[in-house]
Amino acid sequence: MEDAEEEPAMVVRGPQDTTALVGDRVLLKATYAGKPEPTVRWTRAGRVLKNDERTSITSGDGVSCLLLQNITADDSGKYDICVENSCGADCTYASVSVEGPPDPPSGSPCISPESPTSVRVTWSSSPYDGGRCVDGYVLEYCLVGSGVWAAACRQCHSLSHSVRGLTPGGRYAFRVRAVNALGASRPSAESQVVQMQEEDDESSLFEPRIVHIEPGLEFVTRYEVLEELGKGRFGVVHKVIEKRSGQKFAAKFVRCRTAKDRDKVQDEIDIMNMLRHQKLLQLAAAFENPREMVMVMEYISGGELFERVVADDFTLTEKDCILFMRQICEGVAYMHRQQVVHLDLKPENIMCHTRMSHEIKIIDFGLSQKIDPNKPIRVLFGTPEFIPPEIISYEPIGVQSDMWSIGVICYVLLSGLSPFMGDNDSETFANITRAYYDFEDEAFNTVSQDARDFISALLVKRKEERLSAEQCLKHVWLDPENHHQTVVLSTDKLKKFIIRRKWQANHQVRQVA
Ligand code: ATP
Ligand code: MG
Repeated sequence: MEDAEEEPAMVVRGPQDTTALVGDRVLLKATYAGKPEPTVRWTRAGRVLKNDERTSITSGDGVSCLLLQNITADDSGKYDICVENSCGADCTYASVSVEGPPDPPSGSPCISPESPTSVRVTWSSSPYDGGRCVDGYVLEYCLVGSGVWAAACRQCHSLSHSVRGLTPGGRYAFRVRAVNALGASRPSAESQVVQMQEEDDESSLFEPRIVHIEPGLEFVTRYEVLEELGKGRFGVVHKVIEKRSGQKFAAKFVRCRTAKDRDKVQDEIDIMNMLRHQKLLQLAAAFENPREMVMVMEYISGGELFERVVADDFTLTEKDCILFMRQICEGVAYMHRQQVVHLDLKPENIMCHTRMSHEIKIIDFGLSQKIDPNKPIRVLFGTPEFIPPEIISYEPIGVQSDMWSIGVICYVLLSGLSPFMGDNDSETFANITRAYYDFEDEAFNTVSQDARDFISALLVKRKEERLSAEQCLKHVWLDPENHHQTVVLSTDKLKKFIIRRKWQANHQVRQVA
């Protein structure tokens, strides 16, 4: 035992350097040798450690343990242990490094408004990264008064982010969390409250998106269902509010009993995913339940076009009709460029964006189809008064089929009369097949020749000879600059037309349901 003799009288060995996560326990264990039994002292940064809630020290029989519980980032550092008795003393140490989520970003985020529905949020980095590098930030927002914080972006990789889809007129606050491999920090201080600008209407606006069907339970958690907006053959449409943003949407609930019903809705979703145009209703989300599918669409606050133009506070002139028909042609021209045919163009499916503006939106793509020029399609559906001759005779349809319906809509808008309407459907179909109509009614006395020419170029039996939507846009009648008359059109007949259509719609719904 020669070695032992060279060793000092007191020896302490032991504790290992340790890495731990916030909240963990750390045990530093040292062994010592020496008689008589020495006093053991653990210190950190010159301060003697004592037993307390989080710290316990036990020593005896040549072993001393320091147990640190529920550790925090502040517990990182060097831990010294010294043993001492009358014969001598010895010291050693170990390092503890504590890793955890980062500290919150310093200061509060800065907000700069970009539009009535978007702001740019900018923030600072965290003073301490938690021992692991920060790899992103979570940006959260709160609609003031709701008390709910939701993520606007879960993986921001820079120190600024543009938040879209906010509600015009809404008041919002923002905060940020820094994230590393071990988790997210506590939130930063909140930004100042920002008041979004008002938009001049309440129709919803949002970024175009590709919609995938989500589980129906999601719909219930994300939206609150409000009043009914309308009914169609296939669905009921309700106004809904997205709880997170307070934004309004329209949700169409479609009963699906069979797989075929579901496929039809899926087709409608696929078509809407293809159509990105201001004049065409946009889809925001879709959900499926065992017996029903829900399509969440942008909310259109202006109501159906025809109802708007017969309202007491609206005076309808031919120039208004030009402005409306032009927009219908713009939307339809876009669809046709994508090789999509609407196949259900009728007054109920043309809506006003807001009560105040002249802007329209085409809705309801439930019958729309993508056309393959090499594959003739025949269909057996539509709304009697608006369907073209080729559907009645079960001949191939094409994008030109929509142009016929546009001719009918235009005829009705200007006169309040339905050009092919017979006493029953078979009479109506016979009139359509013969392309039999005229402008004899006195309602046309005040309608310009250009308007009649426009209609005549659409209500043509052979679909190949009808004006295309693109050609319509170049037609002399659709150039509002060419039209200077301000004769007010009587809407008495149009009112009767609407009442009759409503009655028929209710009747049809009952038949199907
Ligand atoms: P259809 O019988 O015409 O095929 P449908 O069952 O496919 O009808 P839609 O035409 O899409 O249903 O909607 C029915 C009615 O609901 C519309 O005529 C309109 O009044 C209202 N509506 C539809 N979409 C919206 C919307 N996005 N915003 C406001 N109201 C809407
Ligand atoms: Mg409809």
